[in-house]
Amino acid sequence: MINPSNNSLYRGRFAPSPTGPLHFGSLIAAVASRLEATVHDGHWHLRMEDVDAPRCSQVFADAIVRGLATFGFEWDGPVVWQHDRIEAYESALERLRQRQSVFPCACTRRELADSEIHGLAQDGAALYPGTCRHGLPPGKQARAWRLRVGDAVVEFVDAVQGRVESMLAVDVGDFVLRRADNLFAYQLAVVVDDADAGITHVVRGADLLHSTPRQIFLQRCLGLTTPAYAHVPVAVNAGGEKLSKQTGAAALNLMRPGEELVEALRFLGQEPPKHLSAASVAEIWQWAGVHWSLDKVPRLVTRERST
Ligand code: GLU
Repeated sequence: MINPSNNSLYRGRFAPSPTGPLHFGSLIAAVASRLEATVHDGHWHLRMEDVDAPRCSQVFADAIVRGLATFGFEWDGPVVWQHDRIEAYESALERLRQRQSVFPCACTRRELADSEIHGLAQDGAALYPGTCRHGLPPGKQARAWRLRVGDAVVEFVDAVQGRVESMLAVDVGDFVLRRADNLFAYQLAVVVDDADAGITHVVRGADLLHSTPRQIFLQRCLGLTTPAYAHVPVAVNAGGEKLSKQTGAAALNLMRPGEELVEALRFLGQEPPKHLSAASVAEIWQWAGVHWSLDKVPRLVTRERST
């Protein structure tokens, strides 16, 4: 929770989803967010985003925490687990219900797939056709809860990617905050968690750039402050696929954390000297704390890992 006497403090975070072990792609976001917090004399928090319980596992969560420790990361306060935060999500959804900003939706995946296409969202999925926007069709039961986006236009300046503008009705449509399986959606959880932790700066992979307008809109609907955003390039393989467990990204070599860290710094446009790979992780963090510059991070959404 926020310490009210210290509201000007920079607060960053790293928020991995424990759906696999730490890999090079997540290391990039961890390094960039950690170093931005370091150079701003700020706090850096660790949050396990296990809200999508069926895709997450405690084994991966433990492996991520151990892996981060091996790389010499230190975080402020205890690790926050989304599975402990359900009441906070409930109460945020309730506030939105009272303001009629959300509506229950009875549509099944099948019905949505069969409905007339009203356009494609940025992720290639069909835009929500609006079936339940003005009330559930007779005899239908609520399955999910969606946020009304109306004619909202969200604009923000990302510290790496520059100006971003989104008209939500065209880019994403009314989006789900509580899913048909009763789980809270990432978009709601991340907004409530960042606000409750007093996060002032979000540094994360550019694969989430398309989610940010939704999160900013949701912050507005809930009367929350919008943090500053910086989206760093996402590591892809030679085929252009994001490095992740799904694309078979090689697990990080925890026996040689220094080499991986230096490689992550290089990926982020920093210029670590060659000999640094052989140094201890403590020495590498020391070098990085002095030399880190967000301005050097390439303004790319994806970047191929060179080694
Ligand atoms: N949990 C998300 C992921 O691992 C990151 C969420 C965020 O940084 O906002 O991709």
